[in-house]
Amino acid sequence: MVADRTACNTVCRITCRTTDIDQPPYLPHPTMSTATISPRTPAITSRLPAVGTTIFTVMSALATDCGAVNLGQGFPDFAGDPKLLDAVDAAMRAGHNQYPPMAGIAPLREAIAKKMQALYGHGYDAGSEVTVTAGATQAIITAVLALVHPGDEVIVLEPCYDSYVPSITLAGATPVFVPLTPGTFRPDFALIKAAITPRTRAIIVNSPHNPSATVWTEAEMRQLEALLAPTEILLISDEVYEHMVYDGALHQSAARFPALAARSVVISSFGKTYHVTGWKVAFAAAPAPLMAEFRKVHQFNVFTVNTPMQHALAAYMADPEPYLQLPAFYQRKRDLFRAGLAKTRLKLLPSSGSYFQCVDYSGIANEARSLPEAEFCQWLTREVGVAAIPLSAFYHDGYDQHIARLCFAKKDETLLTALDRLAKL
Ligand code: PMP
Ligand code: GLN
Repeated sequence: MVADRTACNTVCRITCRTTDIDQPPYLPHPTMSTATISPRTPAITSRLPAVGTTIFTVMSALATDCGAVNLGQGFPDFAGDPKLLDAVDAAMRAGHNQYPPMAGIAPLREAIAKKMQALYGHGYDAGSEVTVTAGATQAIITAVLALVHPGDEVIVLEPCYDSYVPSITLAGATPVFVPLTPGTFRPDFALIKAAITPRTRAIIVNSPHNPSATVWTEAEMRQLEALLAPTEILLISDEVYEHMVYDGALHQSAARFPALAARSVVISSFGKTYHVTGWKVAFAAAPAPLMAEFRKVHQFNVFTVNTPMQHALAAYMADPEPYLQLPAFYQRKRDLFRAGLAKTRLKLLPSSGSYFQCVDYSGIANEARSLPEAEFCQWLTREVGVAAIPLSAFYHDGYDQHIARLCFAKKDETLLTALDRLAKL
């Protein structure tokens, strides 16, 4: 629209291109006094009425207050590789401190595409199919806002990471909850199939899985591929723990399966892979038509992701060893932790991937065994000095199984201190 702003004195409700607007249409008159107007914040209706502070923030704060060992929120308590930290310093000093390109710097997108080709055999075009994001959380909400319309349905498999449902809600869509099988947390394809309707736009899958630590098998991915093949359903594949798969198993990225890759946004996070969760740098990879829409939202919800970290990550990724060694690094911690837990009254669930270990506390000697999960985790933090996350926090209806999630991405001494305390249960 072409607008003569100097002559315009009516409120414009025509959709304007942002470049048409160089000044607001109305400014307060310079003589207008506000002295007698009492300040009042207008009433609002929450867009996310059911959302409070995340359980991770709540439990980390409680752990700090109580001086508890924090095995709740998932983050390492050890430093990243000094080489990576030095690379950030070098990037800053080399002057990489201004806005990078919107989709991320080319060397980092190229390094991501190269890694995905090497590990999963799928060639993503670094120019049009890979975008660097401010954490996986931003990638997830960006994918949902870009691809899901009001009135659509999105299938989520519970228990699920806490950002999925608010992202769907903010898109004006409806989350459709399908439980992973209680006890095993394996996908039930009959239930997933039954949840599909003509309005289903996407399904969000997370493997390795937070919180259950299960890893989807090749057969399960093939079942998903077959189920989605005759549909228009997109797959948002949250693979932030892609390098934490144990006992010789392979991570079954959606990128490995051509028919899935063609309908998927694959998301991973450098925070997990390189022990730097606070950097909030991640990426999304998707076929060009999906990525073009993704970038339209990305450029207005973050525009770009911090430059020096991108340069450092690009340089560091030239060596694949750090991520190739990650399974062995975390498997040793998992085994140390599980061996200690096996001596307690906590019942261990399998931990095949991610850096989480779930435990069933219904057999402990203390009467706290009959508390619901949320209260049990509070009690454990306050009275035993170990913070954990209730599994019920990952269900929309707070489904309770007497299971708590513990994070073993910790120094050995931290794990040993926690084990010492848990032994008293
Ligand atoms: N997905 C899952 C399953 C996660 O566990 C997390 C965070 N731990 C994220 C996404 C978000 O990752 P980021 O910190 O990169 O935003
Ligand atoms: N993903 C991490 C966890 O599951 C926490 C991230 C967060 O605090 N939002 O513990």
